Amino acid sequence: MNEFKVRASSWGSLFDCAHRWEGEHILGMRKPSGLRAQLGTGIHAGTAAFDSGNLTGAPITVDEAAEVFVQALKNPEQDVDYKQDDLTILDAEKIGLVLTVKYCTEIAPRMDYVSVEMPLEPLLITCGDVIVKLTGTMDRARVVRSAGGKVINDLKTGGRVIANGAVVVQGRSAQLGTYQIMSEQTDGEATVGSQITGLQTTSKAAVGVSRVFDAKRIMLGTEDEKGLIEYAAGMFKTGLFPPNPQSQLCSQKYCARWGTCMYHE
Ligand code: SF4
Repeated sequence: MNEFKVRASSWGSLFDCAHRWEGEHILGMRKPSGLRAQLGTGIHAGTAAFDSGNLTGAPITVDEAAEVFVQALKNPEQDVDYKQDDLTILDAEKIGLVLTVKYCTEIAPRMDYVSVEMPLEPLLITCGDVIVKLTGTMDRARVVRSAGGKVINDLKTGGRVIANGAVVVQGRSAQLGTYQIMSEQTDGEATVGSQITGLQTTSKAAVGVSRVFDAKRIMLGTEDEKGLIEYAAGMFKTGLFPPNPQSQLCSQKYCARWGTCMYHE
């Protein structure tokens, strides 16, 4: 059997433009990320250091978390195209510092985390003679008493993660539902839903936490409706990864397959 090892964090984009996903994750087409993505990586590093310290009983200060952010921003582990986004390093540093401080002082104190950056046991999906092996770590898990149990929480950074005062959850279920399933098979504990913490990386930096939503149901399906896993299995079985030229990421800037894809205008 052929095995495809895929990071669970990429899984959501399979259902955006499957053709782009195939190009990047099966055919190995690569495109350097932009500074805005590197800003997100830095914010993840600073906030994870802060939450890990609190969870393990070795807390760090907000200033120390901010320093972790700056070091991660300025020392990328992969290629960064600094011309891709309309953003300077100085702007990125200013925005990231505001967001890291807002997160540590406004969000983290009310979250009751039970895990931070937990490695997950791989999820194997058999698709005919192909096995898809989803791997990854989960940003956070927390207990939400009003929701009745353990909730998977994912940090999202970007320019449009908050709209009309609410954190956007649209299109997040494939990734978050995968994390719910992987979390449950890793520690045997049931999850009751997923949630997004949004950190808006614009000059009007803002943070927020979404409502809890049932992402696992969308992955697994119901008695009457197929889940996304079944649709994904169909793509791998047939080798048909359809293009979506209406994707918001269908552009030379974001798609590694743009140069050879005939489906965009
Ligand atoms: S150019 Fe557009 S349609 Fe083609 S693979 Fe990229 S995102 Fe999909």
